[in-house]
Amino acid sequence: MKVTPLERDLTYYIETFGCQMNEHDSEVLAGMLESIGYLPADTPGEADLILLNTCAVRQKPEQKVYALLGKLRPLKERNPALVIAVAGCMPQQEGTPRDLARRFDFIDLILGTHALPHLPRLLEEARERDKPLIDTGEYELSRSGLPVRRASHFKAWLNVIYGCNNYCSYCVVPYVRGRERSRTKEDIMKEATGLARAGYREITLLGQNVNSYGQDLYGPRGYAFADLLLDLNQVEALSRIRFLTSHPKDLSTRLIQAVGEGERACEHFHLPVQSGSNRLLKEMNRRYSRVRYLELVAEIKETIPGVALTTDLIVGYPGEREEDFLQTLDLVERARFDSAFAFLYSPRAGTRAALKKDSLPQEEKKKRLQEIFKLQNRISLEINRALVGQTLELLVEGTSRRDPRMQSGRSRSNKLVHFPADQELAGRLVEVPVAEAYTWHLVGESPRGGS
Ligand code: SAH
Ligand code: SF4
Repeated sequence: MKVTPLERDLTYYIETFGCQMNEHDSEVLAGMLESIGYLPADTPGEADLILLNTCAVRQKPEQKVYALLGKLRPLKERNPALVIAVAGCMPQQEGTPRDLARRFDFIDLILGTHALPHLPRLLEEARERDKPLIDTGEYELSRSGLPVRRASHFKAWLNVIYGCNNYCSYCVVPYVRGRERSRTKEDIMKEATGLARAGYREITLLGQNVNSYGQDLYGPRGYAFADLLLDLNQVEALSRIRFLTSHPKDLSTRLIQAVGEGERACEHFHLPVQSGSNRLLKEMNRRYSRVRYLELVAEIKETIPGVALTTDLIVGYPGEREEDFLQTLDLVERARFDSAFAFLYSPRAGTRAALKKDSLPQEEKKKRLQEIFKLQNRISLEINRALVGQTLELLVEGTSRRDPRMQSGRSRSNKLVHFPADQELAGRLVEVPVAEAYTWHLVGESPRGGS
């Protein structure tokens, strides 16, 4: 890609919605902007370019984008030179770019997920027009080699596979992110070793379904995610390797063993179950049963001591009956997740589930959601209480936002721990004994050692 400096001293502000994939895409968008001379602005009000990196997975994040665009109108009226761009998953949906351009005629540029590497060129083109420039084309472009402005100096996101082939009945992701495309192992190893050399201690491998990594490139019996994890485990300067997200239908014994064996692979699986009802799992096209899921949970817990397990749940899927919901509660009780994200089902245009009759009253759905939260919170607290007295290795994120005398860090199992320290320890690994347990975090004593 040709990158020509445009002007100096222009500033940008990026607001990111949605998942870790989007967080990382925003780091790439920022990297590209800085490569053409933009500098980061602290607030949208000071910026010459405001870019919204959007999420389409549920209605809520979309509504937030619409609300924010409404607030940007006066900024644009005051400063017509301000450039406003909307990127990411929302524009990649059919009809949305036109709708955005109609409702917010001051938007300059609308770009989908595939057009991301073209941002510099599109910005230049958008300047010459009075109507918004829309690019939602599907390019077969490698993102490797694009500049990245990482938010952290010690932990980094790393894409291993883009897109999703699964077509869960409720989900818009395959439509807005396209088919599965793995990056080559050489590309990934190169990026990981580069990060390690630059002082990064933790990498998080990203994919909608990391478990199907490699199949499109190396075949169903070829180089797989477990192989990649074991190869990355050889990068000595790295301390920790995380990965998100695992689809239960593709989670192999080899991968569970690789996490158990690889000393850098962190003891944490995010394994979205969505529902505990076989009937709904089938309707959702998840391609596993509740028994199979619980077998996987047992295998993970037996193979990896101290492992943490987290999940996603959807409440109020069209046609969800009381007995389906009770099955979900029962599964939550049996699996004993460390924590769970539970979402109210949100119909997404173009998906199969959106065509289904959804007669359950909103009040009942909300009641069920609260019940899930209550149960899961009890379990999270029980699991956390059992950690009191143990010493956890933490990668320190920095000074606690609530208390300047405390530092905050994450354990290998991804627990948030606050502990007292009289100096800033961001980026350091420390050993901290756990003193108190709460639902969402732990409190530790002063560190016993570290590096
Ligand atoms: N690729 C990941 C998840 C991507 S979306 C996976 O398969 O696990 C993140 C989570 O959002 C999903 O796990 C699901 O729980 C939730 N989600 C997706 N579509 C949804 C919808 N239409 N309504 C409510 N929740 C949804
Ligand atoms: Fe969506 Fe299912 Fe793909 Fe996850 S696996 S991104 S839930 S379609």
